[in-house]
Amino acid sequence: MIFLQLAPMIDPKEMQTIRHSEDALRTALVSKRQDLMDRYNKYSPGEQRLLEDCLRPDSTLFHPITLHSPSDWIISHPESTQDFEAFYKNPYRKTPNKGRNTVYIQTVGSFGSSEDSTRLYVEWLQEYCEAFYYGLAVRLLEPVSVSETACAFRINENTCNLQVHAGITMIDLYPEDSWNFVFGQASLTEGMGIFSFARYDDNFYSREYKGRIQKSKKLTPGDYSIFNSYYTPPVTSALLYRSCRTLTHEIGHIFGLKHCQWMQCVMQGSNHLEESDRRPLDLCPICLRKLQSATGFKIAERYKALLRWIESDLTTDTHMEAAKTAQKPTAAFEESRKWLMECLCVIGD
Ligand SMILES: [Zn+2]
Ligand SMILES: [Zn+2]
Repeated sequence: MIFLQLAPMIDPKEMQTIRHSEDALRTALVSKRQDLMDRYNKYSPGEQRLLEDCLRPDSTLFHPITLHSPSDWIISHPESTQDFEAFYKNPYRKTPNKGRNTVYIQTVGSFGSSEDSTRLYVEWLQEYCEAFYYGLAVRLLEPVSVSETACAFRINENTCNLQVHAGITMIDLYPEDSWNFVFGQASLTEGMGIFSFARYDDNFYSREYKGRIQKSKKLTPGDYSIFNSYYTPPVTSALLYRSCRTLTHEIGHIFGLKHCQWMQCVMQGSNHLEESDRRPLDLCPICLRKLQSATGFKIAERYKALLRWIESDLTTDTHMEAAKTAQKPTAAFEESRKWLMECLCVIGD
């Protein structure tokens, strides 16, 4: 049984908090099935301490979900909750195994203002995903141009920016003609997805966005020349942060993790950028157990890998002439760095 306590908050925007009972959270995390309880008991005492930190109402690491407006995901897209047991017994889930333990990232179109910045940016994303999905290999496929995907495209009536219907891309996406846009879409049964980071540029919605196209411009289906010099936003720390968060969220769906409704978590659904920016960068303990059971990492090892990614902010790019070093813009990850250190402290590692 799941208890939803909607407690009114002081915020003038009528913010609400979804606080599940300790009992409901414990069942979602541990399960009441004997075999799953036995499995849970194989976690080290430190790992259990970390996972169970979310049961404490005064936890400083894990927080209840707050609802800020009727357009928030949970209110506008009612979905069933997925606890660990529901995840574990889902027959359609893609479980990585010896022959299938690689995530491939296909980039579509360019990503940065220059070829060098595109390559670095995509490498940072790849390394981040490899730390997040610790134990899996993440490989980059040769980038493809928009025309090679033969996808549909249009100019969005509201933003006047170019969109494609198809990897990852810096061009805005729409899944069907009737939709305005999507941040990304993943298929739980096909093991694949497509995500766009275009809307993560701070200027996307502004009239000055360099990707805006005259409404009167006529597009010819099949003529992809418009993408040849299409604008891509500069790689900032905020853009890198948002891209890492979206990419890991969408890959989570590919592994069968549904939207998290337990507590603040990278797997929470989001309807708009402001809501997406409220999501933390990492998984809540319930989703962490789902991922851990699929790939089998030691929890501390995964946190250390994420910490290493944030702390190694210099990348030596051997492809560039004279092996220039480029600064990885990690300023936006500072909160996450402190959070990871605290988690490691709780585990005692
Ligand atoms: Zn999602
Ligand atoms: Zn979660």
